[in-house]
This record gives sequence, C-alpha cells and structure tokens, in this order.
Amino acid sequence: MESKHFETQAIRTQADNSLYREHSTPIYMTSSFTFDDAEQARALFSDEIEGNIYTRFSNPNNNELVSKLCLLEGTEDGIPTASGMSAMFSSMAALLKSGDHILASRSLFGSTHQILTQIFPKWGIEHTYADIEKPETWESLIQKNTKMIFVETPSNPGLDLVDLEWLGKLAEAHGLILNVDNCFATPYLQRPADFGAHLVTHSATKFMDGQGRTIAGMILGKKDLIQDVRFFARHTGPSLSPFNAWVLSKSLETLAVRMDRHCENALKLAEYLEGHQELEFVKYPFLKSHPQYELAQKQMKKGGGIITFCVKGGIERGRKFLDSLKMLSLTANLGDTRTTVTHPASTTHSKLTEEERQNVGILPGLVRVSAGLENVNDILEDIENALRASKNASQVKVD
Ligand SMILES: *Cc1c(COP(=O)(O)O)cnc(C)c1O
Repeated sequence: MESKHFETQAIRTQADNSLYREHSTPIYMTSSFTFDDAEQARALFSDEIEGNIYTRFSNPNNNELVSKLCLLEGTEDGIPTASGMSAMFSSMAALLKSGDHILASRSLFGSTHQILTQIFPKWGIEHTYADIEKPETWESLIQKNTKMIFVETPSNPGLDLVDLEWLGKLAEAHGLILNVDNCFATPYLQRPADFGAHLVTHSATKFMDGQGRTIAGMILGKKDLIQDVRFFARHTGPSLSPFNAWVLSKSLETLAVRMDRHCENALKLAEYLEGHQELEFVKYPFLKSHPQYELAQKQMKKGGGIITFCVKGGIERGRKFLDSLKMLSLTANLGDTRTTVTHPASTTHSKLTEEERQNVGILPGLVRVSAGLENVNDILEDIENALRASKNASQVKVD
C-alpha cells in the first residue's frame, strides 16, 4: 500500500523480505554480493541491470534508507554517507570544478565554513558569503562563475532562517544549483525540495538518529545531480556502514513523534526563559520575538528542537553556567533524547576568529540547548538552578 502520509512512509518503507520472511529488516553486514554467473556480473557492472555489487556502491540497508528519505523529503534519489560532513563535501565537490563559485549564507556549520574557506580555495573553488539579514543583496553577489547556492535554515547555532521560496526562485532565475542543509528542521518540519531546492543535505547524526549513536549523512535531490554525486561517492568512498543505515532507518520510524516532543519541549523552554533576568535574550524560531517569526511560521511546521540564549556576564558566566548543570549533558551533539548543551564560542566555532563569530551572532555568553525528550520540568529546573548557581559563583568571585 502506498501512503502519502509522513508517519506511514517513515514506518512502512522497507527492503524486500529475505528468504526468512522477517518483519523487521535485518542488517546486511556484507562487503559484497555474489553473482549468479559471469554474464550477470557483466550486466551489473555495465548498469544494464540493477542490483547490489559491493557495499561501497550500495547495500539493502542503505537502499532502504534512501527510498524512505526520498519519500519523506520529496526528492528523486539520494546517497547515504558516513557523516554529515562527507555529505556536505561530496555534494559540493562532485558538482563543482576549479574556477567555480559558491554563494553561501554566512551562518554555516563550523566545518562547512572550513571547507569553503580552507579546503576549496586550494582547488580554485571560490565562495562569497551573503548576509541572512540582507536578502536584497544576494542577487548582486551572484557572479558569472557562480554554480551553487548553499544555505542552512535554521542555521547552527544562530537559528537564522532563509526564505526558501524566495531562494528557490532566485536559484531558478539564475540557473544555479540550490543546496540546502536541512539538518536542524528534518523533513518532518520542512521540505526544501518543495521550494525548488535541487539538493537537500543532512547530518543524519542529529535528529534523524535521535539517540546519539551514529555519525551519518545524506545527499538527496534531483536524479541527474545525484547521478554525478553517486559517481563521485562510488569512487572516493564516503559510504555509510549498513549497520548505521539500519539504525537510521529504524530511527526514522519514530521521527514524527520525537520531533513533536522535541519541538514542544523547546517551545516551553523558550517561553519560560524569555525575559529571564539572568539572560540577555532567548532565540527560537517560533517565539514571536524571533526576527523571522513569520517566515518560520510560513516554511516550518514547528519551531524545531534547538533554542539558544545568551547568559549575562559573558564567557566566564557562560562557562560557570555549564559547570553548574546537574542533569543536562555537556556534549557537542544535538538532536538527542537527552537534552544537550553547548557553548559554541569555546567549542564548535572556536576555530573562527572573534570577528567571524561576531558576524554570525556567536556572542561569548551564547548557549545552545537541544531540547531532549525528558520531562520538560526537569530540564527547566536544571537550567534555572544552574543560572542561580552561576550567578552566586560570580558574585563570590567579585566580592
Ligand atoms: C552536525 C552538523 C553537520 C555535520 O554533520 P556530522 O554528522 O557531524 O559530520 C553539518 N551541518 C549541520 C547543520 C550540523 O548540525
């Protein structure tokens, strides 16, 4: 039965049964697949027939994951990768050559920024950063050699949004490939392909896994583009392990219910903390005070699982706040069942210069919270107590 509903697609898209008539897809931990005869081997290698040859190219678990995510994201084809970064890198490196130019939003994940600024220049691939607050400037930043637009929305950790409908039209008008990192929203909250994105990239490590177990990525998109990326991935080898593909496919079965709760908890935290006397500000796409609240309502189903806030007292207070937490996990991951907290200025974005951090809104006291699935009152209590404890600590020191 074919369903058009997200939840059903996420649960009922499965690899064909093996001889054993299993109900849940088994893990195909095999490096390669056998050929019935020399003729079949020839036909498979020459793409005359479809089938698995070698797990670097494809595998039943990886194929199941791709089929499922294509339905969920509304894309034609896809490639699973060993990490979010290999997805970002392969989706760009496969389609660009020396002399090409990428227009990217300034608010990007730290390692994506490193690819654009430190790695691609070695191969003559240039970039320009565009400011999210000034969409009117983007068109003028498109050059003759621009081939791709790359954005994250909402961005990590700034929670800035880009208007996907507007951007889809801009890319179309200039014949550019629009590549959207949809990691923070997941297809449950937002489907960039519906707005004209040609490629949708993911760190599946985050909400897709949802339980902090695997590192993985996805490249989804138009058939012709994915074909080129597949050639690149097949021969350079950023393949996903079938075990991780199996974990992710299972995880997607619960994505909708998990995202609903992540979003509900994040909104409650944001509403409670907004206006708190120990905070400079709280940012969350579905808070009315978010500068792009209306855009968030337009293109996202809910506000997502991430909130940020800035503690008063700068970097010292920020660190004390983290040290005063009793339950929440201090860890670099996000999108976990456990609420996780990070201090981007001293961790994920520490390699950026102070000025680069300022440009993307990473203030010294900025804290990123990924709302987990614990009872929201316990999360709140831990944050409230840590805010108090860190205040006392700094008073003791000042006195
Ligand atoms: C984590 C993250 C990545 C990188 O993914 P990995 O799975 O860690 O390689 C890329 N983009 C965004 C927005 C992320 O949050």
